[in-house]
Amino acid sequence: MSIIADDNDFIHPEKKGKNPVIKPESIEYDKNFENCIRPKNFDSYIGQSALKETLKISIAAAKKRELPLDHLLFYGPPGLGKTTLAGVIAEQMGVDIKITSAPALERPRDIIGILMSLKGGEILFIDEIHRLNKVAEEILYPAMEDFFLDMTTGKSQTVKTLRVPLPKFTLIGATTKAGELSGPLRDRFGIIHRLEFYTEDELAQVITRTAGILNIDITEEGAHAIAKRSRGTPRIANRLVKRVSDYALVKHDGKITEDVANKSLDILKIDNFGLDSTDRALLKLIIEKYDGGPVGIETIAAAIGEDVRTIEDVCEPYLLQAGLLQRTPRGRKVSPAAYRHLHYKNLPPEQQGLF
Ligand code: ADP
Repeated sequence: MSIIADDNDFIHPEKKGKNPVIKPESIEYDKNFENCIRPKNFDSYIGQSALKETLKISIAAAKKRELPLDHLLFYGPPGLGKTTLAGVIAEQMGVDIKITSAPALERPRDIIGILMSLKGGEILFIDEIHRLNKVAEEILYPAMEDFFLDMTTGKSQTVKTLRVPLPKFTLIGATTKAGELSGPLRDRFGIIHRLEFYTEDELAQVITRTAGILNIDITEEGAHAIAKRSRGTPRIANRLVKRVSDYALVKHDGKITEDVANKSLDILKIDNFGLDSTDRALLKLIIEKYDGGPVGIETIAAAIGEDVRTIEDVCEPYLLQAGLLQRTPRGRKVSPAAYRHLHYKNLPPEQQGLF
């Protein structure tokens, strides 16, 4: 496909004083904290063992061939370590990584600029890649496949077509919604992997590691108490360890024991399944107002005052995997386990007898 670009588009974005790259340090959420605890290599990257093994082989093969790694797509709920893994891969390959996200690549010049700024072997990480618009996607196809940009420049009679070579690079895409990626884009990734929720033991290791970096005193039982309520997600585990550490410091002697962790998490209203007040409001709404469902996602979102995307990306994946919620063609339904968890005695008629 040809891209119509005005002459300005051929100026390197940094020379124009505008760079579409979102630097890691500008990513939201307590950036300094997140950056200092982010694992930098495979040894400190906990869990996801099958994925790590596959990646180590791909990296070793790419190095032997002296070629960049195949394009990679990681998918899974937020906070499971997709961005972190991209950084680990860059470190392992000994190359630089540029981090951006699809909403920052709205105009053709954004994606063209970033592609033209890449150096040989570099990694381009695009977060939320399912949100790329059609034009940006079509610019990416020849770039990913043949390392070329096809562009036309000038206006009407002076129009010129250019095939601009790009250095060989690796694209790492991350998405919470693999199903929303267009087929042609998905097909251009050589390696596609799903990140799994972490086990309690793995999260306890994440917590102990983070506590070590932050000089927080924590017992093994304390780490497990936090891990149990971290929804299988390292980002949440890290957030909770910090909150619990504040509580331990102010209300106790600073040490996180099982008892201190549990008391603190109770105060934060995070229950023993790791559910917070939004998750509980969602389940209670379906139980109390819709007899357990099914009910449409838009109705749920409007009733609890959250946007659909937050519910789909943040709340639902864990509720589904914990077996508390079910997705049906007619909408969301809560499971008997959710009734039990929230201490409801009466199930809707169709679910009675399932206990
Ligand atoms: P995603 O890109 O999937 O939303 P991130 O890569 O930003 O998630 O990870 C969120 C945080 O969780 C990171 O700051 C990192 O410290 C931590 N983290 C993620 N995966 C791991 C892991 N496998 N081991 C240790 N910490 C991890």
